[in-house]
Amino acid sequence: MPENVSQEPAPYAGQHSAVFAECPVPFAITNLQGRYVDVNRAFETTFGWPRHEVIGRTSMEIGIWESSAERGQFIERLQRNSTVRFNTANTICRDGSRYRCRLFASLLSYRDETYIFTVVIDIHDLLLAEGEARFYLERFQQLYEHMRDGCSLVGKDGRFVRSNRAFCDMLGYSEEELQHLTPRNITPARWHEQDIRIENEQAFTRGYSDIYEKEHRRKDGSIFPIEIQLYCNFDASGESDGFWGIVRDISERKAQQEHLNFLAYHDPLTRLPNRTLFFDRLEHALKRAKRTILGAMPSAEMPFQQLQLALLFLDIDHFKNVNDTLGHLIGDTLLQILAQNITHCLRESDVLARFGGDEFVILLDSPVTLESATTITRRILALFAKPVYLPQQDKEIYVTASIGVSLFPRDGLNAETLVKHADLAMFKAKDLGRNTFHFYEATLGASLQERVQMEAALRSAAQRNEFILHYQPQIDLATGKLAGVEALLRWRHPERGIIPPLHFIPIIEDIGLIGQVGAWAITEACRQMAAWRAAGLKIPRMAVNFSVQQLEYSGLVDFVARQLWENCLQSWELELEVTESLLMHRTEQTLAILRDLEMLGIQLSIDDFGTGYSSLAYLKTLPVHRLKIDYSFVRDIGHDSNDEAIIRAIIALARSLGLETVAEGVEREEQERFLHAEGCRIGQGFRYARPLSADQILAMFHGKPAV
Ligand code: C2E
Ligand code: MG
Ligand code: MG
Repeated sequence: MPENVSQEPAPYAGQHSAVFAECPVPFAITNLQGRYVDVNRAFETTFGWPRHEVIGRTSMEIGIWESSAERGQFIERLQRNSTVRFNTANTICRDGSRYRCRLFASLLSYRDETYIFTVVIDIHDLLLAEGEARFYLERFQQLYEHMRDGCSLVGKDGRFVRSNRAFCDMLGYSEEELQHLTPRNITPARWHEQDIRIENEQAFTRGYSDIYEKEHRRKDGSIFPIEIQLYCNFDASGESDGFWGIVRDISERKAQQEHLNFLAYHDPLTRLPNRTLFFDRLEHALKRAKRTILGAMPSAEMPFQQLQLALLFLDIDHFKNVNDTLGHLIGDTLLQILAQNITHCLRESDVLARFGGDEFVILLDSPVTLESATTITRRILALFAKPVYLPQQDKEIYVTASIGVSLFPRDGLNAETLVKHADLAMFKAKDLGRNTFHFYEATLGASLQERVQMEAALRSAAQRNEFILHYQPQIDLATGKLAGVEALLRWRHPERGIIPPLHFIPIIEDIGLIGQVGAWAITEACRQMAAWRAAGLKIPRMAVNFSVQQLEYSGLVDFVARQLWENCLQSWELELEVTESLLMHRTEQTLAILRDLEMLGIQLSIDDFGTGYSSLAYLKTLPVHRLKIDYSFVRDIGHDSNDEAIIRAIIALARSLGLETVAEGVEREEQERFLHAEGCRIGQGFRYARPLSADQILAMFHGKPAV
């Protein structure tokens, strides 16, 4: 038996031996040669070695170390230090199972001998916990590096200590660059003071802040919106030393929000304010205007003439036709271009909105007078004098507009009233023949009601035979003989008597009755020609007015041919008058119909010539026989040399194209002389006769020679 083993009294002898034996922690005593002197019961149960088999042997002999290298390390450390903590020892139990433990060993002298006391600590749970901690740490690091949100740690000195990839990418800085910067360096100045302080204070008192929205500035200077939450960081002793910031770039979300907001307040087609936004702006403008007025004159009546806001209600004339004949795509493009054009006419402070369809509303915001509102309205209308070029379709089209104007405070004090009144005035402008503007008048309210009644009455007028034709003679200026008549529609209203066409034709066009009424006019005119002939009066030619919508009717040519045939008329005895503006809207379809009518032998004249914007080039392409010089030029013969010049030009133009000219509204001898001298062939007007009934025509021309 080796020395100081077994026979020797154990180094823990005495009253502590029981404690040693029963201590639940495994315990071993070895001598400096490494032989076991004693082990306690816990050692026996942990390793499975009975005390008597261990004592006197070395750990090598019983093979308790899994690796001799590890044992070597342990012993070597013991030789250098009197106390050793060996964190992880891999040992083997008697049954061969592995046991990982931590060893605490100290040298102890007892009766001149030195022993090694080794306490064995079970580290199973500890290892588990450490493994878990490592696991989470690794995961956190992965998360930190790969998370979409930016994450950064700001140290006590206020600089960024750590920044993850997302944070660096978001700002365009490298992590090293950020280490020289503080949050203030990446925050636009307007956020500096208050907000940063509040966030920080919250983070330090509560441990974390609320989520805030603010902005960051990138390295390139660009600014973007972010959402940020701060968390306090604690050092090992639990002291706070800086904070973590979790930052999310919310540019996309903000952009979406802005887009939604935009859609809520704008018309997506023209990108103009919509009705809601317009009313909002109008209310503001009114509030401001009222303050100024009331401030200037606290108790007196409002100074109507001094300070005004103007509201313009603009509606495109016959826009439905554009959509129906040219298609919605062109209609949409046209609206977009018109919106831009109108915008260019206005000042920054003015508001242009689209209320829907072809309705635009304009607020002239800043004091306007009646005169300046008129000037601006004229300027807007003048836009429509030029053709609109549609680049995608490589097409030019002409449209006109009607504008109603109401003024604050004269025509209303609140937004709804002003818009309603401008709308009423716009209807009046339509009634006046379109392509014009009208200021609101108090009587217009009544006329709207009147219009509703008119519409109802017009719907039944056709069945009740309330439409009649009057005929106005056209005279050959050289000979004074009858060259033809123009059929002019009248409505014989049961209570109001004869109503002129300008009062109801725009309405029947609007409510879609014009096709029916126009067809009736052609039928009736042809029938009348036959009736006059039967009564012995030969009228050389009958001119019938024609509306744009009639030209869209594809059965028109057959219909006209049948009327001629049924009344035994020659095709040259019928002439169709189309207005110049109608021809502006010409489409392939209308042109085809006009050509078919020409093939049939029907003559075509352009009515109100000079008021539109016909070009020589396109006149040549049309199957036209006659130009009717508009009354507005003829009226001022002898007073306005401009108008005379225009008439001369029209006549020259017609002659060069081989067309005949007819002058409308000839009232005075002077006009007749001028027209005749200039080479106009035919005159029509009160100088010769007003529009007459069929019987009056018969009485007037029966027995007289015609051309
Ligand atoms: P328009 O075709 O230019 O007809 C000429 C208008 O000038 C007629 O007005 C006629 O009464 C008027 N007028 C003729 N001579 C004189 C004159 O010496 N001085 C003045 N101040 N006026 C004169 P009316 O009958 O009121 O017709 C107005 C317009 O209504 C016509 O203009 C035409 O565009 C339209 N219209 C008339 N009948 C029809 C119809 O059957 N169908 C369609 N679609 N439109 C029609
Ligand atoms: Mg006419
Ligand atoms: Mg005319």
